[in-house]
Amino acid sequence: MSSREAPPAFHVMAKPSGAACNLNCAYCFFLEKERLYPGSDLRMSDEVLEEYIRQYIQAQQVPEAIIAWQGGEPTLMGLDFFRRSVELAVEYAPPGMRVSYTMQTNGTLLDDAWCEFLNENGFLVGLSMDGPRELHDAYRVDKGGRGTFARVERAARLMQERDVDFNILCTVHAANAGHPLDVYRYFRDELGVEWIQFIPIVERVNPDGSTLLQQGDTVTERSVDPAGWGDFLIAIFDEWIRRDVGAMFVNIFEAAVASWVGVGAAMCIFDATCGSSIALEHNGDLYTCDHFVEPDYLLGNIMQTPMLELVASEKMRRFGEDKRDMLPRYCRDCEMLFACRGECPKNRFARAPDGEMGLNYLCPGYKSFFTHIDPDMRTIADLLRKGRFADDIMGILEEQEKDLQKAFMNAGRNDPCPCGSGKKYKHCHGRG
Ligand code: SF4
Ligand code: SF4
Repeated sequence: MSSREAPPAFHVMAKPSGAACNLNCAYCFFLEKERLYPGSDLRMSDEVLEEYIRQYIQAQQVPEAIIAWQGGEPTLMGLDFFRRSVELAVEYAPPGMRVSYTMQTNGTLLDDAWCEFLNENGFLVGLSMDGPRELHDAYRVDKGGRGTFARVERAARLMQERDVDFNILCTVHAANAGHPLDVYRYFRDELGVEWIQFIPIVERVNPDGSTLLQQGDTVTERSVDPAGWGDFLIAIFDEWIRRDVGAMFVNIFEAAVASWVGVGAAMCIFDATCGSSIALEHNGDLYTCDHFVEPDYLLGNIMQTPMLELVASEKMRRFGEDKRDMLPRYCRDCEMLFACRGECPKNRFARAPDGEMGLNYLCPGYKSFFTHIDPDMRTIADLLRKGRFADDIMGILEEQEKDLQKAFMNAGRNDPCPCGSGKKYKHCHGRG
């Protein structure tokens, strides 16, 4: 296997229970992955666990290692598995290395004992929740088809009581995309969380009708539509930028600030290249990405080949650089490329206006969102460069709004509208 130089640090998402889950969310791209391991009990053995922790920690040439657990539903492994994982991390971490832990969960199995463990070991938990009850329950159902909202909300309350650090991972799909402010305000005002990750659901329908692989150029009816995704982000952004900067943290807005400031976006979808979401299956199989757990993207098995060698392989390098090298011309000419980077390759199955294939399905949404936030992002970047705080923008916008209202009051019916639309006032804000 030809290889490149190993990176000094990399991120792995480990799936100790493979694709197994106690729920049956309609859009889950992982449930079908059980088909990749027929007959397997889908449980990470002690041997794989120890090998993973040892190899991963020893490969990190930085002072911090992050052990990230995902699913399927990782809590199905039971608490003892995670107690052992922490023991092993402590055992293998060299002096001076800080180990931190994250876990993505549907929350339904969390109880007092779990919360005590998560709190004691400083886990950062990502709780999957799609908004208030009707929106959450549209697709997030259990094996009996029952909505899971009450159980997930209970988990959030329990974590708040027990001081477990958690954020929300909210997928955006056909059912909740049309209700951006209901979703956002529920998390902010009712649940009382500060960190939200929004993830668009784009399920590609494979030629055999399944959604197992990243193949096919049509999507399921549950998928978010491109314009709807842009509108969802814009509606929340408009509320956030006026009242919540510095108090609420939304993954895509934080990434945008970083892009406009000119530092890394900290979200792989907005990075120039891929490679920061490597996935480890329960049996030690290592895949190029969490979204490409499929045979063509298997790097090897860490029980046979050292993880570092797999991460440094030519196959991994190619996968990472393809994200940049396969961009269609339409993206390369796009003014928003610095922020969007063509988003995730798994969504690049649309045709660009010039006919070239490989445009991101969500492009219209991203284009309108990034274009919409550009003026405010420039202001924030400017504030930060001057050593001021990002949340100063809220005062600036408030002043601008007052000035605009004054200008409306003084505008004549045939004057250009003060909003800058280019229309006459009587045909714009002065209508009626
Ligand atoms: S394929 Fe998508 S999810 Fe995977 S690393 Fe690349 S951008 Fe991230
Ligand atoms: S907004 Fe569209 S054209 Fe621009 S970089 Fe993103 S996907 Fe490409």
